[in-house]
Amino acid sequence: MSALQSVAGKGHATGREIYDVVVVGAGFAGMYMLHKLRGLGLSVRVYEQGGDVGGTWYWNRYPGARCDVESMQYSYSFSDELQQEWDWSERYAPQPEILKYANHVADRFKLRSDIQLDTRVDRAVFDESANSWQVAISDGNTVTAKHVVLATGCLSNARMPDIKGLADFVGKVYHTGHWPHERIDFTGQRVGVIGTGSSAIQSVPIIAEEASHLTVFQRTANFSIPARNAALSAEERRSWRADYPEIQRKAREETRNGIFTEMPDRGALDDGDNERRAKYEQRWTRGGLTFMSVYNNLALDKAANDTAADFVRHKIAEIVKDPHTAKLLQPNNHPIGSKRICIDSDYFATFNRPNVTLVDIKSNPIEAILPNAVRAGDKDYEVDALVLATGFDAMTGSVAKIDIRGRNGQTINQKWAEGPKTYLGLMSAGFPNLFIITGPGSPSVLSNMIVSIEQHVDWIADCLAWMRDRDLVTMEAKKDAEDSWVAHVNEVAHTTLYPQANSWYMGANIPGKPQIFMPYIGGVAIYRQTCNDVAAKGYEGFTMSVAERPQKLAAS
Ligand code: NAP
Repeated sequence: MSALQSVAGKGHATGREIYDVVVVGAGFAGMYMLHKLRGLGLSVRVYEQGGDVGGTWYWNRYPGARCDVESMQYSYSFSDELQQEWDWSERYAPQPEILKYANHVADRFKLRSDIQLDTRVDRAVFDESANSWQVAISDGNTVTAKHVVLATGCLSNARMPDIKGLADFVGKVYHTGHWPHERIDFTGQRVGVIGTGSSAIQSVPIIAEEASHLTVFQRTANFSIPARNAALSAEERRSWRADYPEIQRKAREETRNGIFTEMPDRGALDDGDNERRAKYEQRWTRGGLTFMSVYNNLALDKAANDTAADFVRHKIAEIVKDPHTAKLLQPNNHPIGSKRICIDSDYFATFNRPNVTLVDIKSNPIEAILPNAVRAGDKDYEVDALVLATGFDAMTGSVAKIDIRGRNGQTINQKWAEGPKTYLGLMSAGFPNLFIITGPGSPSVLSNMIVSIEQHVDWIADCLAWMRDRDLVTMEAKKDAEDSWVAHVNEVAHTTLYPQANSWYMGANIPGKPQIFMPYIGGVAIYRQTCNDVAAKGYEGFTMSVAERPQKLAAS
């Protein structure tokens, strides 16, 4: 019997369970990981903090929440039956429909029996003598696992801003990333929204329709492209499905961001003004994230980028009637796309409504929240409810919340004190048998998350099967491989315009967080090839050890 097969345990934790794998999180990553590992015959326990599956789509229930990747591409590809049977209703699925899809997947693949909901993983400690993890969970139990997979999500740790007086506000305070389950009716209320990222840009038009007055507090203007959301016809769904295998192969193997679209073969400055404007106009009319892939150098060349940024600024000026408000809404401190580009439905036009005010808190920062108002620039803006659309402690936040201790008792927070250090975004040296799905150092948030999740899950599952076949009990990133990868991630990032923005990609939205470009920007196709090559070379850059023999064997 293999080392992995020799440990088995099922059912609810009683304090004595031993699992092959503990998975943290039952979002899209955790659910697929469970499905794959079950296919290998491993015993798996998934712990999920939320009251149901769905991860980010369980928590982000704010008005207007929907995906910015088209539904037909924001779907699992691992099951052809699933793809053929699920009908997305709109080009960009709204949050309730994505959550329904997640629930459908949990039921269809009978995942629920191995998922323990309402359970937080508080601590994971590597036991060097037993080559296993002791995982302490919020129901008071501690379980043992040979491997731990963090499927904790990149944007899961909602960030409350540190604003004086917030605790004394007498009205209701909502965070977009932690929205209540019941519908919130803002009818007749004066509402304040703080923040103007993707979450605010989606929710502002909807809240404006209900509120008696909406005040939007903007620190940084953001670029946003119209979604042009619409119902999907049966014919559109049919034509996607007919070509699914080829579309998905191309998305996986040929693109940077895991989204199938035309591949640009020209730079923005290769076209004359009229031709360029016509191409931008065509993409603006089509809507969506592919606006940024009209040319191949918008993320690389500032002069090229300026042409796209100017186009969008011009559009904002056309849409927004009040010139002062239009000027404030025009982003001017970062290249377009260097912060996650937003996708909206009538965001800019909402500022033409008589019941909507934009307040520039860059020039006049918020001084305090009063019991019934927000004070900025010596002026009090009275509000009955506050919506904090202030984002997340991205990529590392949900890992940092768990007390993870690897070799010699080192915590992951100590290891990552100057920024996350991983090999391929998958493992961190000193933390054997601990995998991260879409971790820092992988394309993750720069890609269609489903594509990146599936790639990581498949790679991890293949790796565990490979270890089992060879009676290997531990796997760990080598420090030199990790150092080279971290340097490579950083080097590639600095060939682009991305580091020029104070973005959450850089950790810049969290005071005191090290400013390192966290995701890998080389693209999903190159990255997949790199991971496959590493595996083909016997997991080059990783150290493995065999069962019941303490000395390490270099697998490479
Ligand atoms: P975000 O992009 O980080 O935006 C947060 C906003 O809050 C920014 O405008 C920020 O201003 C502001 N802010 C933060 N702290 C503040 C403070 N103390 N005082 C005043 N303003 C403050 O967060 P998000 O909108 O939740 O989006 C995060 C990411 O989630 C997106 O980039 C996207 O990847 C994902 N997302 C996707 C979708 C979708 O699929 N459609 C929807 C929502 C979110 P500064 O910019 O000046 O820091």
